[in-house]
Amino acid sequence: MSRSLTILGATGSVGSSTLDLVRRQSEEWRVLALTANCQARELAALAREFDAELAVVADESCLPELREALAGSGIEASGGEAALVEAAQRGADLTVAAIVGCAGLAPTMAAIEQGGTIALANKEALVSAGAVMTAAVARHGATLLPVDSEHNAIFQCLAGNRLADVRWITLTASGGPLRCWSYEQLRAATPAQAVAHPNWSMGAKISVDSATMMNKGLELIEAFHLFPVGAEALRIVVHPQSVIHSMVEFRDGSTLAQLGPSDMRVPIASALAWPRRMDTPCTPLDLPAIGELTFLAPDEERFPATRLAREAVLEGGAAPAVLNAANEVAVAAFLAGHIAFTQIADIVAQILSADRPRPPASLDDVLAVDAEARARASAMLEPA
Ligand code: NDP
Repeated sequence: MSRSLTILGATGSVGSSTLDLVRRQSEEWRVLALTANCQARELAALAREFDAELAVVADESCLPELREALAGSGIEASGGEAALVEAAQRGADLTVAAIVGCAGLAPTMAAIEQGGTIALANKEALVSAGAVMTAAVARHGATLLPVDSEHNAIFQCLAGNRLADVRWITLTASGGPLRCWSYEQLRAATPAQAVAHPNWSMGAKISVDSATMMNKGLELIEAFHLFPVGAEALRIVVHPQSVIHSMVEFRDGSTLAQLGPSDMRVPIASALAWPRRMDTPCTPLDLPAIGELTFLAPDEERFPATRLAREAVLEGGAAPAVLNAANEVAVAAFLAGHIAFTQIADIVAQILSADRPRPPASLDDVLAVDAEARARASAMLEPA
């Protein structure tokens, strides 16, 4: 019997990798909704190919283009943030949350409220909402399957084990394309240099996050919520080859690691097929060709983002949402050529150093914290 599927962020890097796998076993899936921000033509082509019931653009100004591209297909078209939430409320068996940024939070929460299974790539949503999201998962009987390669690796290592037996969870980090650069060089790094990731092909925002190491900081917060072993039991190690995607050490001294090619189709396939396995077209690991695996401690002088994220998760409350919002604004400004690479962490640190709103208790609270932090970060970018 086929399962129904919705992909939030279908036109992105994770969305495309997901659809590549779905294409290979189309008899197993019935596509309910596909969404994008404004890539209306690309979305319409995917909706036609996968015979989706509904296609949604978050940016309402792109709806006329979507309607035109879907004319005669019988596929519903809608636009705007409320339409995105409605798409998530259609109650798919599996919803892939692959929107980038906190923009994905409201539809992801809507999918959680339907009680289905959510394959979560959209780490910013969990970082911002934290306990509000995990409480909703418990309340609605939903299942969160981590798609982020590190968290998917940890999820696999934990299968059949008890969290109480975990000594450490170690997130591996490639270190990004600028890993060996001096602070002076980092200050002059261009967007093209920052997004040129050595191992992974990803969207622009997460590529910059990898270069600043904020990606690992966000992942630390994500792991804190997905695997409640306490922040002190979460570690980060730089592993430039990206072969080990993360590891778990247990109290008896055993460490389990998950290895695989640097191809997001592996963790996505794990979530699509869970609790079974499915074939993927990924090139298998060739360990003799790789030769050596190396491990280094993170350098928080040149890359302070992991320290900022650790401080935010230890503080809890609104701090992670503030960190995420400031980072989203700063990364967008860097990609637009308005600020230097090193200013991204500076802006996040400065926004975090201000007074904090009270801990968010609902989705609306989280969105208010996010909006306020964004406004303050944006104000910092304006010429004095
Ligand atoms: P992309 O930038 O490639 O794609 C983002 C998707 O979200 C697109 O479909 C885009 O639509 C849509 N989108 C963008 N802005 C909005 C908005 N304001 N409202 C609604 N939809 C929007 O991102 P990635 O696929 O790289 O990343 C997606 C998420 O997965 C991120 O949270 C990232 O951290 C996480 N992730 C990604 C990995 C990767 O390998 N790429 C690995 C692990 C996690 P449009 O095309 O119209 O702009």
